[in-house]
Amino acid sequence: MAGIYIHIPFCKTRCTYCDFYTLTNESQRDAFVDALCKEAEMRKEELPEPVKTIYFGGGTPSRLHQDQFEQIFDTLFNQYTIDANPEITVEANPDDLSDDYIRMLAKLPINRLSLGIQSFDDEELKFLSRRHSALQAIEAVRKCQEQGFGNISIDLMYGLPSQTLEIWERNLDQAIVLNIQHISAYHLIYEEKTRMYSLLKAGKIQQVDETISTAMFSKLIDRLTADDFIHYEISAFGKEGRFSRHNSAYWTGDSYLGLGPAAHSFDGNNRSWNVASLNRYIQIMTSGLPERVTEQLKYHEKYNEYILTGLRTMWGINLTELKNKFGEQFFQFCMENAQKYLDQKLLTREGETLKLTRKGIFISDGIMSDLMRV
Ligand code: SF4
Repeated sequence: MAGIYIHIPFCKTRCTYCDFYTLTNESQRDAFVDALCKEAEMRKEELPEPVKTIYFGGGTPSRLHQDQFEQIFDTLFNQYTIDANPEITVEANPDDLSDDYIRMLAKLPINRLSLGIQSFDDEELKFLSRRHSALQAIEAVRKCQEQGFGNISIDLMYGLPSQTLEIWERNLDQAIVLNIQHISAYHLIYEEKTRMYSLLKAGKIQQVDETISTAMFSKLIDRLTADDFIHYEISAFGKEGRFSRHNSAYWTGDSYLGLGPAAHSFDGNNRSWNVASLNRYIQIMTSGLPERVTEQLKYHEKYNEYILTGLRTMWGINLTELKNKFGEQFFQFCMENAQKYLDQKLLTREGETLKLTRKGIFISDGIMSDLMRV
């Protein structure tokens, strides 16, 4: 399985918590799309075919115009063998989704939308510097459904400084009544160099209490699983048959090609990433000599990846596969370190599968790091 990730590095304005590589000056959109198509042409030999998933992320892909999407799709469909039934996702922000824009998206080969909603509470949206209101978000989902999009994911955020459990529950209730297929929910992280981080450091806001955080995560799991969402990855919930195929492929170690500035690629052995500068990216692609930083994964790093990505999912780690891939020594290391968590019922072994229990999910970072090798 192989996937293509496309990083669209433009946003209309910047959200206070975000540290992704993105620019609010959109004047170079055409030059960027030309460079991106050039990169797609130059790197086509790197990816095993057929391509099964294409994911437009960013940034804000819904800042692209119709002709820019068409140029990208023409290049991809001409240069790559695309699976007969690909998953093609576009991330979009509710404020970009006018009737005309959604109609335009519906005519393109896009079959999955991921909407950056984050909250259905206007105060929270303002705090996060999102550009949309709760009503706009609800309307955006409804309009996308009317235009035939039957595979919609939304992002939600919890653990905000003044968020109460009641507000979080209201957000979840609102998400559920929208009849969408997928929800990704993330705890607010204070990334360095963001405005949110500066506010925290200046004492103007305070991190949410850990007990509330845990209660929110617990509520998230209970509320969504009661409504037939399957908790298939720590932050991801999907209806049956509606899991993100693109992200699932990351978690099972498949190859992917990342196009665009700051995009990461993985070929099974090496990670590489493009320069995080739009100007430099355009220069490099125009010169026809793409340069990337490449890092070959060491043996123990591959094992660590295997542990990390496997345990994040409901499928866990297959112990026979672990032994076959990494040998008896790594297998023993894993099992010896897993034992205390098995005893505490934070991990469970079912046949050849090792996975987190419901209790274990809450301290997954600690468990995963104990099972990794340095
Ligand atoms: S969160 Fe999304 S919309 Fe906001 S600045 Fe980051 S990439 Fe742009």
